[in-house]
Order: sequence, then C-alpha cells, then structure tokens
Amino acid sequence: MEESTHCKVELLAAKIRRDVLAMLYHRGYGHIGGSLSLVEAYAVLYGKHMRYNAQDPHWNLRDRVVLSKGHAGPVMYSTLAECGFFPKEWLFTLNDGGTRLPSHTDRLKTPGVDATTGSLGQGTSEAAGIALGLQKKGIDAYTYMFVGDGELNEGQCWEAFQFIAAHKLSKCIVFIDDNKRQLDGYTKDVLYPFDYVEKMTSFGFYTQKVNGQDITALDDAICAAKRNTDAANCIVLDTVKGAGIPYFENVLMNHAMKWNNDEIKAVTKDALEVLDARIAELETKVAAFGA
Ligand SMILES: [Mg+2]
Repeated sequence: MEESTHCKVELLAAKIRRDVLAMLYHRGYGHIGGSLSLVEAYAVLYGKHMRYNAQDPHWNLRDRVVLSKGHAGPVMYSTLAECGFFPKEWLFTLNDGGTRLPSHTDRLKTPGVDATTGSLGQGTSEAAGIALGLQKKGIDAYTYMFVGDGELNEGQCWEAFQFIAAHKLSKCIVFIDDNKRQLDGYTKDVLYPFDYVEKMTSFGFYTQKVNGQDITALDDAICAAKRNTDAANCIVLDTVKGAGIPYFENVLMNHAMKWNNDEIKAVTKDALEVLDARIAELETKVAAFGA
C-alpha cells in the first residue's frame, strides 16, 4: 500500500473510532467492544477496496457488506457517515424512536446497509445468497461478510460456509472477527474455540490470518483474497475487543457498556481528545500528500 493511501486509511480509522465512541457516549449505552475491534477492517475496506457510490447507495455494481454481527452497527454507521452516505448528525440518533440508525443494522432504514442482521448467524446465509445472486446475474462485485467469533456458536454459520465453499464463491470474502470474547466472557470459556484457520481450510476456504488492527496486513490479505479466484476466501482477523482505547480493552465485560458513572465519562472525554488530536495530525499529513 502506498504511503499516501496508508495515511488516508489511518485517518479514516481514527475518525471511525472517534465517531463510535462519541455516538455511544451520547446514547449512554451500546456495543462498544465489538465495534472497536472492526475499525481498521472497515477503514481499509471503505478507504481503499470498496466500490460504492454514496449518492446512489443501491447502485447495482456496488460491492456489498453484510455485518452479520449486527450489534456492531456503530462501526458501520460511523464508516458510512464518514464516507458521505448520510449526515453525521444522524449518528447521535442511534437507537432513538424512529431513528434511521437502529442498534442492529437494517437495510430498510440506513443508506449503505445491504442486509438486515442482528439475529446471530443469519447474516452468513444472507451474504451467501447475495454473492450467489451477483454471480448468477453476472455482476462483478464483492460481498464482504463480517461474522463474530462468538457468533460461530450458531450452527447456521457452518451451513452457510459449506454453501459458500461448495459453490466456490470466491467473491464472498468472509471476515471472522476473532476478538476472543463474546457477550458472556471469553469464547474459550463459553464454547471451546477451535482453530479457525484449520476449520475454514478444511471446509475448502483459502484462509489467511492477520492482525486485524494492522492496516498494511489487512490490505495485503484482501489483495491476496482477490487474487484467489479458485476457492472461497476467509480472513481471520486477530483483533482486540475494545481495540484502540486501553480502558475499553481492559474491561472484561466490554460487549455492551453503560456510560453511567464519572469514571467512564472522564475516560471517554480524554479518549475523544486524544483521537481529535490524532485526526488533526493525520489530516495535515494527508493534505501534504495531496499538495
Ligand atoms: Mg467476539
């Protein structure tokens, strides 16, 4: 990845992370951990790889994104707002009555959302169907699917993976967000987590594992997946739940949190200041590349 692109993606990631934190702080509760773990993956996708038109969200040739772990809606909304799909003010309506941004993603409510998800496991089948439909229609577009490690407790995921592998839907790129935790604690304590690379490979996927917070590693893996047109593609994201903000990384039960005490409010304000400073710094660097 060129340095200028890396810088642009890094800036997008910082903005997404800031927006996620700001919107949840404003709401007073929400799914922080699993939204933050996906920030870099979303930044690399929308900052470099995704084919989209924010002015025409239903453009037929667009790449599709299915956030099967629909509770991570805040990372999707922050990304879409930064990419111009809707005004940023909408972020502060998260979960309000009548909002266009419900807690879990809904394709009928939000421009840029391609699948209604949140009932865990179901998005994997939606993505499989979308990818097969695109292939049958001869539309040369990618379907990017994000599934949680805890979500893999759902048997439906494995039916969908079998389908994607059997049909060699190489343009359906499956990202497993391996952030080691789920709603009730560590995945290793809830249900023994097998080796995802071994498992997906045995299903017939070309499987890669990368540091999911590393922009260059993510880009390399997506490029390699795009080059592989002979088999289905899976990228296991080795991530940290709550990534990028130490306080949220260190709270064990960080799946969904409440902003209901002075400590979390103070930590959040400090983190927002740090992120704003970082954004200003990166904006200067990006502008310098443009000159
Ligand atoms: Mg998880």
